[in-house]
Amino acid sequence: MAANKILEVVKYSYYYDQICAVRELSFYVNEGEVVTLIGSNGAGKTTTLQAISGLIRSGGRGEIKYMGKNIENLPPHKISGMGIAQCLEGRQVFSHLSVKENLQMGAFTKKKKKGIADDFEYVYNLFPRLKEREDQMAGTLSGGEQQMLAVGRALMQRPKILMMDEPSLGLAPIVINEIFQTIKKIKDDGMTILLVEQNSQAALTVADRGYIMETGVLRLEDTAENLLNNDIIKKSYLGIE
Ligand code: ATP
Repeated sequence: MAANKILEVVKYSYYYDQICAVRELSFYVNEGEVVTLIGSNGAGKTTTLQAISGLIRSGGRGEIKYMGKNIENLPPHKISGMGIAQCLEGRQVFSHLSVKENLQMGAFTKKKKKGIADDFEYVYNLFPRLKEREDQMAGTLSGGEQQMLAVGRALMQRPKILMMDEPSLGLAPIVINEIFQTIKKIKDDGMTILLVEQNSQAALTVADRGYIMETGVLRLEDTAENLLNNDIIKKSYLGIE
């Protein structure tokens, strides 16, 4: 069966004034895949996600296609309404709202009560700790719990593709492990995921394919398995000698 491309970025560049943050980047995500963009600080990963979500626009050139349609000029609310959800870097929960209210914010575009109740159940099953803390203010959650909440809120939109920006950032190894186990589970439930990470090892462990970026340029693409076994990648990106 031919794979179905849900997202495709074609020769996309992004300039902040004179500075080129992303240069002629091309990659795609098939339906049901977990694809990771990896690279160190300043590689252009966040810029790429923000361009896809519509959060930045003025410096972009090239094409971004979602289910065959060009979206590179659409505003963020149109893009999220089409089924693209993003968990921003640094989590960005509404700290003065409760866990439950944060999740409700994710469901704001939906009218059907039954659908919203099902999505609450799905998210609470995925993260029982959020259920236990549903009345707690989000700002008082631990870093890992806030990350869970950010993922949960994005899932409440019932997106067709979930984009995650560095879910491991600033978390302890045990919590990172927990987050990545959940990413695996969300994938097994059929979600398509674009995962941006500096933690290459963790990202490649859950991904089907990966793209390696360096200062705005795509260096290498391959299956996650091949990248994990590539000696140059092991040395330069995974810290394995
Ligand atoms: P990190 O993991 O540190 O977030 P990244 O791979 O996500 O890195 P970007 O945040 O996309 O990288 O940054 C790519 C380049 O664009 C960097 O050189 C950065 O300094 C520059 N840049 C990002 N945002 C802006 C901005 N608002 N104005 C000017 N330059 C920017």
